Amino acid sequence: MREKSKEGPLELAVYGKGGIGKSTVSANLSAALAMAGQRVLQIGCDPKHDSTRLLMRGEVIPTVLDYLRSVPAPEAKVEEVLRTGAFGIGCIEAGGPQPGVGCAGRGIITAFEFLDKHRVKAPYDQVIYDVLGDVVCGGFAVPVRREYADAIFLVTSGEYMAIYAANNILRGIRNFDGETHRRVAGVIFNRRNLTDEEGRVGRFARAVGLPIVAELPRSPGFAHAEEQGCCLMELEGYGEEKAVFRGLAEKITGELPLWPARPLTDEELERIVLGTTRQPAAAVPAAPADTERKKSAASAPAPERPRPDRPPLYGCAFNGAATAAVHLTDALVIAHSPRACAFYTWQNISSPGRKNLFNRGILMPSAISPHFECSDMDHASAVFGGMEKLRRQVEAALERKPGAVIVISSCVSGIIGDDIRSLEALSTPETPVIAVPADGDISGDYVSGIRDCLHILAEKLIDRGAEPEKDCVNLVGEMAISYNNEPNVRALRSLLEGLGLRLNCRFLGDARCEELRGFLKAPLNILDSESADNLELKAFLEERFGCRFLPGRLPVGFEATAAWVRELGAFFGCTERAEALIRREREAVEADAKALRRTLFGRTLVLTTINEDMDWILSAAKAAGMKVAWVGVMNYLRTPLRVSRDRETLAVTEEVTSGERIREQLERLQPDLVLTNYAGGEAARGSWLSDTVPSSPLAFFRSALPVVQRWETMFREKDRGSVLREKGGAWKHDRELFQKYFA
Ligand code: SF4
Repeated sequence: MREKSKEGPLELAVYGKGGIGKSTVSANLSAALAMAGQRVLQIGCDPKHDSTRLLMRGEVIPTVLDYLRSVPAPEAKVEEVLRTGAFGIGCIEAGGPQPGVGCAGRGIITAFEFLDKHRVKAPYDQVIYDVLGDVVCGGFAVPVRREYADAIFLVTSGEYMAIYAANNILRGIRNFDGETHRRVAGVIFNRRNLTDEEGRVGRFARAVGLPIVAELPRSPGFAHAEEQGCCLMELEGYGEEKAVFRGLAEKITGELPLWPARPLTDEELERIVLGTTRQPAAAVPAAPADTERKKSAASAPAPERPRPDRPPLYGCAFNGAATAAVHLTDALVIAHSPRACAFYTWQNISSPGRKNLFNRGILMPSAISPHFECSDMDHASAVFGGMEKLRRQVEAALERKPGAVIVISSCVSGIIGDDIRSLEALSTPETPVIAVPADGDISGDYVSGIRDCLHILAEKLIDRGAEPEKDCVNLVGEMAISYNNEPNVRALRSLLEGLGLRLNCRFLGDARCEELRGFLKAPLNILDSESADNLELKAFLEERFGCRFLPGRLPVGFEATAAWVRELGAFFGCTERAEALIRREREAVEADAKALRRTLFGRTLVLTTINEDMDWILSAAKAAGMKVAWVGVMNYLRTPLRVSRDRETLAVTEEVTSGERIREQLERLQPDLVLTNYAGGEAARGSWLSDTVPSSPLAFFRSALPVVQRWETMFREKDRGSVLREKGGAWKHDRELFQKYFA
C-alpha cells in the first residue's frame, strides 16, 4: 500500500471542501485507530486550527506558526506545539495567518519543515493530516506530496461544490503522481440527506474509478459530541456511526487498496454528477462540404504560429523603481522585500559605478543615497503578511521627517498581496507616504520599474498649482546611473547662469522633494537624451501636466550647443546674452585648440564608426590641426548617412561592410591615430595610436575636449619614446588599487 522506499508511520491525508466535515471524520478516525491500538498523530492543516479541538476536549492548542512567530527558530521546541488528546492521540495544529493577509500555503510549508526537522512523526504508527481541499495553491498541496501522504481520502457529501473540490484534489494528486501511480484510498461519503445525494456521489466515484470506502449517516451524534467537546467515538451509543469508523480503521491497518487519480474535466463532472450538458457559447456551424472547405481555406486566417519563449526580463521592476526613487535625496525609500532583494538593488545602484569610478581616481559624481532601507521580509512576513512590521517602520520613518517616504514592493510582498497602498493613509501634512507597487519582476523589468516609479512620483508630488516663474528650466530624463550626469549638470548650470536663468528641478537626479513639488514653476523643460524611455516620459509630462519641451536633447559639440543656446535665448527673450555667451565660449574653445595644436598639428586620423553623428569630435580634431584622412562607416541598417555634415569630411567618408576594407585603408594611409567605437579589432594592429570614441559623450561646448586632450598626452608620451599603444588602460593599475583599498 505504500512506497517501498518510505519508512516511519503510515501517513494519511484527509482532504475535503471547507465545512464538509473532514475534521470530524479525521478526529473520529484517529480515535478509532487509537482504540485499535495504534499510536496516532493528527496534524490539522487548516488555518482555522480547529481540527484537533474534539480530541483536546475543546482546548485550543498553540499553532506551530504562532509559536514560530514568537520564538527564534534555533530555540523552538516541538513539545511546545505537540499536545496529547483523547486516547493518547498526538495533536498538532499548523495554523496560518489572519484571513486576507499573508500566505497560508507558505505557512503549511513552514510548519511541515519545522515538524520534519524535529522528527515529530517518528514515535507514531499513523499520522493523519486534516487538510482544507478547496485551497488550490502549492502550500496546501504539500501533504499530498509523495514524501508525506501514503494514502489520501476524499471526504464529500452530495453537494456539487463538495464533489467539485474532491475532483480538484484528484487533479492536484495527478500532477504529483501522473496517470498510473496509486495513492488514492477512496471516497468517504458524509451524508447530508440531499435529493439524489447517493446517486451523485456514486456516479462521481464510479466515473473517477474510486471506491466509497465509508458512508457516514447523517446523525445527531456528531452534534451531540460537539456539545460535549469530544468526538463521537467517546460517546455512549451510536453503534452504527462508530462501526463506520472502526471499519475504516480496520481497512487502514489491513490491506487498503489504492487507486490512481483520474479526475474528470469540468464538463464531464457536470454531465455525470448533475446530469446536465453545457451549451456551447455559440452555435457551431455545420462542417462545410469538401469543395466549400477548399474555397474558404484561402480566406481563412493563417494558423497561429507557436509563440517563441519569452526572453528573460532585464532586471526587475522593484530594482528599477528603487534606482529611480533614491534620486529624491531627502526622501526615505523603503524596500518592502527580503534583504537579498534590497542588497542586490543596493549593489546595482551603488557598487559598480562607485567602485569603478572611485578606484580609477574619479570621485562619485553624486552621493549615492544613504536613505535606502529594507523591511527585511522573512519567513514570518511571507506567511503572516509583512504589513504590520512595515507599518511600524513607516511610522518610525515619518518621525524623522524626510521629504517623503517611498515604499516599493518586491516579488514576495506582491505575491502575498501586502497592500502597500494602504500606507498612504499614514501621510502627514509635511511628509507624504508614496506607494510604488513594483511587485518585483511580476509587474515588469528594470526599465518599466523606473518608468512606473517616475510616473507615480510625478503624480503624487508635483504641485499642479505652482506659479510659473520666468527664469528657470527643468532637466528631464537623466540616466539612472551615469558618470556624465554631474559634469553635464554643472555645465548646464553654468550655461543657464550665463543666460540669467537657473535650473529648477532635475527629474530625477539628485533632487529634493520640494524641487519636484515646484516642477511646474519652470515654463520650459529640457530632455537629457532622446532615448525611447525619455520620449515616453516627455509624452507623459506633456499629457498629464501640459509641460513644454525644448526640441531635441542636451547638445553635444560646439555647433549643436550654439544652436541650442540660441533657441533657449529666443524662448526666454535673452538673445543678446545668448550670442555673448556663444562668443565667449568660442574664444575659450579656440584657446584650448591652440594649446593642443602644438602637439597635434598635422597628425592624421582615421575613424571607423557606426552610423552616428561624429562632427562633435571630428570638428574638435580639425580645430586642433589634425587631418581627417578617412572615415569608414559600418552602416549595417542602411540608414541615411548621419556621420557628418561637413563637406570635407564627407569627401573622405565611405560605407564599409567588411573588416578587410578597413585593414586595406589603414595599411595604405598609415594614419597617426585610429578612432573606433570599441577597443580592439583592426585599430589595435598597427604602428598608429588608437583610441575609442565615448558612446555617451559629455554635453555642451566642450564635449570633445577631454578626448582630444587624451590624444595629446598619448602623442607626447609616444614622442618621448614611451610605447603607449593604447589609451592607457586604467585597469592596469588594479593590482595597486586592490592593495591600497582591499588587501
Ligand atoms: S526579481 Fe523579485 S526576488 Fe528578485 S530581486 Fe527583484 S524583487 Fe527580489
